[in-house]
Amino acid sequence: MASNHHAHEHHRHDEPESDIVMRVKALESLLVSKGMIDPQALDMLVDTYENRVGPHIGAKVVARAWSDPAYKRRLLEDGTAAANELGFPPGPEGINLIVLENTPKVQNVVVCTLCSCYPWGTLGLPPVWYKSPAYRARVVSDPRGVLREFGTELADDVEIRVWDSSAEVRYLVLPERPAGTARMGEEELADLVTRDSMIGVAKAKPQKPARRRRRSANGSAEHRA
Ligand code: FE
Repeated sequence: MASNHHAHEHHRHDEPESDIVMRVKALESLLVSKGMIDPQALDMLVDTYENRVGPHIGAKVVARAWSDPAYKRRLLEDGTAAANELGFPPGPEGINLIVLENTPKVQNVVVCTLCSCYPWGTLGLPPVWYKSPAYRARVVSDPRGVLREFGTELADDVEIRVWDSSAEVRYLVLPERPAGTARMGEEELADLVTRDSMIGVAKAKPQKPARRRRRSANGSAEHRA
């Protein structure tokens, strides 16, 4: 499974499209032709989840929680309200966001065993491996082994709690704040928060990679890809 974690799905244009892709296209054109959906609204929705909403949102929530103990309490008490507080609705109406705090003795890991429920509002679209039957089954039966494949070695006395998402409840993991980051501001801290650390299969990055940012001529900080 490890070899699949970072594999990308490629579609060759000379190959027939998969059944699911053809079905989605057929359904979309039917709904548009019946006037039931507005193709522009659909494009906007896809753009939102593909480009505008992503793990950088969750990273801001985590960095705020690391920096502000009162916010962290509110986040753990009511994730939905606390995400909204920062202007990040956790998803469509009715979605309940629950935030799970990792500690030196507890590692929380999120899965959707039935399909691919995911905290879209804070993490964007799920990675391919999250939706794979292998992850969904194995993270329940052998969470320690799956985490090891992600490069996350946990001591035997660390309890792993696996949380099964549903249509109504989505989970976001609050990773442990890395050591040696006491002087970092929220923006710098957010750079340490990876998508995988908020799913719970990895830890936050231990240190800020050297020279990840450079100053542009107008003084604004730029991120390198
Ligand atoms: Fe699901």
